[in-house]
Formats: sequence, C-alpha cells, structure tokens
Amino acid sequence: MKYVQTTCPYCGTGCSFNLVVDKGIVTGVAPYQRSPVNEGKLCPKGTYAHEFINNPDRLKKPLIKKDGKFVEASWDEALKLVAEKFKSYKPDECACLASARVSNEDNYAMMKFARGVLKTKHIDHCARLCHASTVAGLANIFGSGAMTNSIGDIAESKCVFIIGSNTFECHPLIGRRVMQAKAKGAKVIYADPRYTPTGKQADLYLQFRSGTDVALLNGMMQEIIRNGWENKEFIQNRCNGFDELKKEVMKDDYSLENVSKITGVPADKIKTAAEWFAKSGASAILYSMGITQHTTGVDNVKSCGNLQMLTGNLGRPGTGVNALRGQNNVQGACDMGCLPVVYTAYQKVIDEAAQKKFADGWKFPDGIAKGENGYEVTTLMNVLTEKPGEIKCLYIMGENPMISDPDLTHVEHALKTLDFLVVQDIFLNETAEFADVVLPAACYAEKDGTQTSTERRVQMWRKAQNPPGEAKGDWEIIASIAAKMGYGAQFPWKTSEDVFNEMASLTPSYAGMTYERLNRPEALHWPCPTTDHPGTPILHTEKFGMPDGKGLMTGIPFKWPQEVPDSEYPFVLTTGRSIWQWHTGTMTRRSASLEREEPTGWVEINTEDAKKLGIADKEKVKAKTRRGEITIPARVTPDIMPGVVFIPFHYAECAANVLTINALDPIAKIPESKACAVKIEKI
Ligand code: SF4
Repeated sequence: MKYVQTTCPYCGTGCSFNLVVDKGIVTGVAPYQRSPVNEGKLCPKGTYAHEFINNPDRLKKPLIKKDGKFVEASWDEALKLVAEKFKSYKPDECACLASARVSNEDNYAMMKFARGVLKTKHIDHCARLCHASTVAGLANIFGSGAMTNSIGDIAESKCVFIIGSNTFECHPLIGRRVMQAKAKGAKVIYADPRYTPTGKQADLYLQFRSGTDVALLNGMMQEIIRNGWENKEFIQNRCNGFDELKKEVMKDDYSLENVSKITGVPADKIKTAAEWFAKSGASAILYSMGITQHTTGVDNVKSCGNLQMLTGNLGRPGTGVNALRGQNNVQGACDMGCLPVVYTAYQKVIDEAAQKKFADGWKFPDGIAKGENGYEVTTLMNVLTEKPGEIKCLYIMGENPMISDPDLTHVEHALKTLDFLVVQDIFLNETAEFADVVLPAACYAEKDGTQTSTERRVQMWRKAQNPPGEAKGDWEIIASIAAKMGYGAQFPWKTSEDVFNEMASLTPSYAGMTYERLNRPEALHWPCPTTDHPGTPILHTEKFGMPDGKGLMTGIPFKWPQEVPDSEYPFVLTTGRSIWQWHTGTMTRRSASLEREEPTGWVEINTEDAKKLGIADKEKVKAKTRRGEITIPARVTPDIMPGVVFIPFHYAECAANVLTINALDPIAKIPESKACAVKIEKI
C-alpha cells in the first residue's frame, strides 16, 4: 500500500490529500497535513474523491456510432476516422470546448490543437457559464481578471462580506477560513436570497432579491460616501474615476429607502452592512456565481471592485475581491488560453505581437488560425441553430453542455445540427449520447499534471493508478489525433512536464514555474515570472495591472434581470449547487457516499408560497418557464425568500437548465442562470 499526494478534482479551493493505493488500485483518500490550503481537512466531496475512479461505468475503449448505436473500436480506427473528418473541414468550420476539470497541460494541448491544427478561432470552455464576468470585469478595472488575495488570507479579515456565494456548501474549506476570521472577532455579512448554511453563520444576513446586486452595492456605497467613511487616501493615490462613481451612487435611486424597495432588505441592515464594511480596517468580499451569472454579471463584478476601491480594501492581507471559482481548474483553463479572445496568460489573439509569438513558437508549417476573436460557447449554440452549416464540427473535452448550459432544449437542437461531434470524457455523459465518436479519457488520479485553483495557486496532480481499459490522458489523445493529421512534430511531448515547460515558455505569468518548484507543498501563485520569483499570493500590493497602475472606478447603473416575474410566471428561479454533488454529476453521482445523501433534485419554495399553492413538502410539482418544464419534488422551507424558488443544477432527471434562459451579459456572454421567471404548479 502507498500514498500518492494529489489535488482535489472538485471545487476551485484546491485542497490536497493523499490517494491510498493498494496493489496498483486507488482505494481511498487520506489526509495530507502539509497543505497550506486545507491543513489536512476535507469536505465530503474531497473525502470521497476516490469513489468514482473505478466505477464500472468508466469508458474503457473508443466508441464509434454506427446505425445510431455506439460500437467499440480500436484506437487506430477511431483516431483515423476523427483525423479524416477533422481534415475535411475548412478553418473556422470546427469549434473546440476545453474543460475546467482537466489539467493545465490538457487545456494547453487543446488550445494549441484548435488554433494550430484545426486552424479555428472558436475555442471556449465552461468558464463562460460561471466566471466569464469575473475575467472581463476585474481585468477591466484592475488589469487582472482573477481572485486578488489568497485563501489563507481570508482568516486575517476583520469583516467578510459574502455575496452570491453559498461558501459553506460550495467551497467548504474556504468557509473554514471565514470561521477562523470570525473566531478572531471578524464580522460576517451574508447577502443571498436563500438563508443557507453560510447565512446561518453570519452576524448580519441581507436576504435580497436575485438580480438586485448592483442596487444593494450602490446603496452601501452611497451610505459610505454620505458618512465620509470612504478611504480618501487610497482613492487619491491608487484610483481613477471616483467622481464618476460618486455621481452614480449618490443618485436618489440608491437612497436607503429606494434600495430597500428594490432589494427587499430593510434599510437599517443596509446601513449596518455599509458601516461594518467601511470601518473594519480589513474587509474582504467573497463572491461566486450569484454575482456572475446575470445579464449584468460584469456590472456586478465591477461593483464589488468599486466597493473595495472606495474603502481601500485591496492589496493587503484580509482584503480583496475574492472570486470563488466553481470547478477545480477553471482558473487554469482560462490561463491556458481556452477562451475565444486570448492565448495563454490573456495575451490577446488580436495583438499582432502575440499572434507572431505563438506562430513562431509552435512552428506549424501551414500557419495558425487568424488573429481574430472566435465564438463564445453560448454564442456558438445560437450560431448552430441560426446559421446552420457555418460550424460543422465540435470537439468537446471534459464538458457536458447537455446538463450545464442554459435552455437545454435549444442546446439539443444546436448539437443535432452538427455534421460531426467528438466527445472525450471519462464517462458516457448526456452530451456524449449525441456524439459520432467518444474517446475514453484518464481521470485526475491516472495522470500527472497541474491545476490552478481559485487563488491562482498552481498545484500538482500525480498519477496513482493506470487508467481503466484503453483510456488515455487528454493531452496524449489530442497529440495522437494531431500526429494522424500530419502534425506529430508540433506535439513531440513525452511527459506532462514537457507540455508544461513548453506552455511556461510562452506564458509570462507561469514562466518561473517548474515541476520541481511546484512539488513543494505550498506550490506557487501566479504571477511567477522568473525561476527565482516567490510567486504572488496577493495582487495589486503596490499598483494595479492597468497601464497607469491605477484601479478604475466606474458608475454602474442598476438594471433588472432580462426576465422578471409576471402574472403568468410569478416566481424568480435561481439555480445553484449542493454540498453533496458537483456540477453535472458525472463524478459525484457515481460516488455512492455522496449520491445517497441527495439522490435527486428538488425545488426549494418558501413556506408561505407553498401554502398558497397547496403544496406539501416532498410533493412532486411542475416547474415551468417559457423554455420548458420539469417534474420535481418540492422542498418547503422558510429559508428561501418569498417569491423566489431554487433548483440545484446537477440532476439530468429534473434538469434546472431545461428552465433557464439563454439571455447573455453583453460583454462576458455569460447566461443569466440566477434569475428567470417560473411558475410552480401542483400536479
Ligand atoms: Fe475538494 Fe473543494 Fe471540498 Fe476542498 S473544499 S475537499 S477542493 S471539494
């Protein structure tokens, strides 16, 4: 028996643990005490992170669809078919989806394959659905679209403001840091339509209407300015745009009385929140998809930045804008350039110097994709249905849009327009059912590699067992397809370390990282530009990443969500996660210890609303929107705001995304998964 230290494959916290390996097979998880992230502690998902690995459903051989049915094929047959089909398309007729749950090396390989082999500008991944607003919003005001501080640093805060994040269920080991801060006297403020386990630990709970974040934050900022609690020195020395911000937030629209009407939060609570936050000396904001998944997602993110600049809570321990990423490697997949507008480390594809750098570095004899912005995944689904034939082929690695994307009926129509769909995954997921070819991939425990957690810490995965059957690592599969298409020389890697070293040579923020350095328990936070650089746990300590080094405050007007309740659809639907499940459930639903705790979905409805509709707890009801309907058990509780219902998005049999709306933020193109109009009917 041996222990192999690795990093948790679930949420973006990046906890470390040991995989227990007995006779070459992973059989359990054991604590790894030296991790500075989780100090040996784990949440339920980490504790049972071994259970899905050897599930009998794992894909073990390539599958090719023949006469509507999948049949097993050899790697040679599958690769030959995929290579021939890929070669038959013109540049930009293919699109690729990379993945927030595979390694940096896998994502870098997919980005290089898309731009170099397929010569397509259309590459994206599911950050589009969760934190695209963070990338766009924070880059716009700070010059860097990532969490500003480190996880351990949250314990140093004197006031933690959690908005739009059920931290204690979705990032439990970050919740632990909040409790450490609280134990030292910090105040905890929680704003959310649901009184979740996170809210129950808070000192002040602001139950507010989904989608009214900007109004709430503007109201707090008006109160801060009105009382002279803003940090004048920080604003003077480190920020631009204060006058514009002040002009907007001091409008009568954001008086305590008006904000109370918009948000549903009593005025005295907004005032208290503003005072605690502004006066603490070190206040941190923690947010997640309650902020980002809106048509105003970028505005919401920028408003969080405004509050932090106004109060001088940036660049110091215990402060910061702390965007909590949902998936283990969503930060890394973005860093690796799996976005339609950038190469690695956010080097813009429309920048001629960046285009030349990658073309020269990769040395494809017939060039690479044009330096033009491609389609986001949400736009891509619209293009597939509205401009049939423009995109003919889709290559999906480790994603499951048939559960994760908004308006699933539309997604199904979109996928059916494709001439050729390749899905590469560890299980035959709901999207793979539509594929022409399915390629079996190795999971996190079966390969070496790195992932980058929400705090920008780059950590190692280490191979603990062989993949099942003939499954292979993702970058190895990609390199094999490239070789079949005549590009073997551009994918010469023998190990994950080879892939990492090539990536780091083209990626300034990773340039100082090596596997040797990352093998230390504390690993490294990016930016780490040179091999003697210690990494950067806190961003913006001296200056921001903007051209003049100053943060940019902007006046943000409040806008309602795209679809608001009416007499036909009288409730607001919001979606989210449970502590027991993760995303589209491909892994957690095959983990017996997790699945038995919450084996199906539910719609959470306020006790008074349920009473009016004559609905009892656990009774099956219909949830209907303009997009579709599902049948789902009711969970009747006083903990959700009247007029709002909540559905977790993990479950195919009652998929929340049948109901959600594909309305997009105009900049980030993120869908409004946190607010649409719904009706609940007794069956
Ligand atoms: Fe894994 Fe996140 Fe739980 Fe840590 S908090 S054990 S990273 S799921």
